[in-house]
Amino acid sequence: MKRTFLLFTITLTVFGCKNPKKDNSKLNVVTTTTMITDLVKNIGGDHINLQGLMGSGVDPHLYKASEGDVSKLANADIIFYNGLHLEGKLVEVFEKMKNKKTIAIADALDKSTLIGSEYFASNFDPHIWFNIEYWKQATQFVVKTLTDAIPEQKETFKTNGNNYIKQLDALKNKLETVIETLPREKRILVTAHDAFNYFGKAFNFEVVGLQGLSTATEAGVQDVQNLSAFIIEHQVKAIFVESSVPKRTIEALQASVKSKDHDVTIGGTLYSDALGDAGTIEGTYIGMFEYNVNTIVNALK
Ligand code: ZN
Repeated sequence: MKRTFLLFTITLTVFGCKNPKKDNSKLNVVTTTTMITDLVKNIGGDHINLQGLMGSGVDPHLYKASEGDVSKLANADIIFYNGLHLEGKLVEVFEKMKNKKTIAIADALDKSTLIGSEYFASNFDPHIWFNIEYWKQATQFVVKTLTDAIPEQKETFKTNGNNYIKQLDALKNKLETVIETLPREKRILVTAHDAFNYFGKAFNFEVVGLQGLSTATEAGVQDVQNLSAFIIEHQVKAIFVESSVPKRTIEALQASVKSKDHDVTIGGTLYSDALGDAGTIEGTYIGMFEYNVNTIVNALK
């Protein structure tokens, strides 16, 4: 009897705690990347049940849906994803969800302004969150989508959206002030893969990724040789690891520079395709951006 009761209590505890905020009267919203989860959370707040598929350190280019993800997607009222083939392995899953409301954040943007790329089936560089102006447009897009779904919360979503856009404007000003302290000739950003092209365009950095735009293709020996020659020629002080990409390629690059009797430091770990851990400052889009810029500027100065 006692044992049965204990088991019952444990069962209740496990299932009771699994989803403390689950409320069946609320809209079920599923998001893919941590950047999109953070954005939708800022707008939807407590008015939606929000579930993000990917966590910190997860590479969206390689991410495959688990069985649990498929059931989350099947129960979703709205699915927000990046699009432009960022989530390359999820495209098939989304195609099976055609009856669902699947919303690509990239659809908020004027395609003619995007950076082209032959690496992706979309023909565009998908790392759009690194342009703060794009993220403001994405904010408006999320406000509109959630308002269409829950019209009675129109004013709340509008207020949340406007507040968030103000924070993004403040972020942009702050980052510009930090970046201005770094002379133009030192603005060369070398990372594991080409996630920072929009960042480079917005803040006047030359951006070189060892691995190309997607992490699905490994860097070859020749890529490492060419890039180490570039680093020596341009006297680049530091190169950067990314939290969602294995660091071995950047370490190989550092070793290659050293083998030519030059020195380059690893300037830190940047958040490229995923935010930091949930609950930390870097676990938010704004915190991630500030952390990245401070890390880059401090290491390259
Ligand atoms: Zn990427």
